Amino acid sequence: MIRKQDIVQQAVQKDILNGETSAIGIMDFDALENTIIELNKAFPEHFVHTFAAKANALTAVMKKLNQTGIGAEVSSPGELLIAKRAGFENHSIIFDSPAKTMADLTTCIKNDIALNIDNLQELERVDVLLKSYPHTQSSIGFRINPQIGSGAISSTSTATSTSKFGYALADSGNRQQLLEIYAERPWLTSLHTHSGSQGCELELMAKGIAEIVNLAEMINDRVGFQQIRQIDIGGGLPVNFASEEVTPSFQQYADALKEAVPALFSGKYQVKTEFGRAIVAKNGFILTRVEYTKSMGGRHIATTHAGAQIMTRTVFLPDSWPLRVTGFDAQGNMRTETNSEVVDTDVAGPCCFSGDLICKNKALPKLEANDYVLVHDTGGYYFSNHFDYNSLPRVPVYAVSGNSHGMSIDLIRKADSLEDVLSRM
Ligand SMILES: *Cc1c(COP(=O)(O)O)cnc(C)c1O
Repeated sequence: MIRKQDIVQQAVQKDILNGETSAIGIMDFDALENTIIELNKAFPEHFVHTFAAKANALTAVMKKLNQTGIGAEVSSPGELLIAKRAGFENHSIIFDSPAKTMADLTTCIKNDIALNIDNLQELERVDVLLKSYPHTQSSIGFRINPQIGSGAISSTSTATSTSKFGYALADSGNRQQLLEIYAERPWLTSLHTHSGSQGCELELMAKGIAEIVNLAEMINDRVGFQQIRQIDIGGGLPVNFASEEVTPSFQQYADALKEAVPALFSGKYQVKTEFGRAIVAKNGFILTRVEYTKSMGGRHIATTHAGAQIMTRTVFLPDSWPLRVTGFDAQGNMRTETNSEVVDTDVAGPCCFSGDLICKNKALPKLEANDYVLVHDTGGYYFSNHFDYNSLPRVPVYAVSGNSHGMSIDLIRKADSLEDVLSRM
């Protein structure tokens, strides 16, 4: 929290936070770098890490991640564009969309971008393309759904028996069919799964990955040589939104994997990862100004500028995606139980429906107009998200590095105001 307090105070001093601020995103670039150091420390060298771009598809963030030496996982033309602008080389990019067009597939195979085939219809297309590009350096695998069951949040669980992703391993006859598919295609050298998600236990994730490694061994046995050289274990490591603690850590995940799937650590396979949320969530936050406060039916209500437009999941599924908030006064001093009366509070957003709340009925040190609300752990899938790519960004985003003796806070994405829009007319 000391780091976050420093950042808020510096942002006030630098007039980034002032009486006109609506909401801003902050990415702590130093903390991001430390996370990648932790990631590299937890896993041996034959693990190659990529960042799932959708978790924070901002060019400056991706550039920072590219400088740490990791790769990128992308699923759309927009994400690919951002990854390329950020400097990622084709050979360190994986393309994973479940809805790849023929043009998408052609581009990947022509340009040596790795891809994971989602289904049998896509396999037919890749078969055709491989005839035209037999010398492609793309690493190509199948995305396998190990069907290990759901975590606590069904909408993000990828490994349920009826998930939309990948080829079902446990459905009748499929394992045998996969063995044949691989045996007939020596260019299929990789296997992919994404078995975790927010709400999943490490043991459940490890179980899914063990299934894939087992399949790799079966394929290699069947063909009589090591055709599968690469295993992509995806991302999906859950993040702790309840406190400052990083748990599970990459080390805890590595330990759980070592226990359940020792073959991953033997060096026999190159292992790829595609972490998203676990890399960025705790290294970013939202700051939004309280425009008004009032009391309604005994509840203190603080109306801010951050709601469903930035925190879509939390607003619509508050029980699955709760977020912590901390208040600061207009000078950037943290509100605590010692300096402010604690009252039951709803922190509301600006959208015109009553469910547009960051949090509901929380005992919080009393917020006042012109205070700032810090929404923790929102460095992934929040201010960087635009499900509608035609909408204009409303949230400027800043990158922070250094400490309170010398901290830089630089704008990395501009937001459009109404004035900007009118001035273009
Ligand atoms: C979203 C996604 C990831 C990252 O998931 P997180 O839960 O953010 O770690 C990795 N791989 C693929 C294919 C994805 O779609």
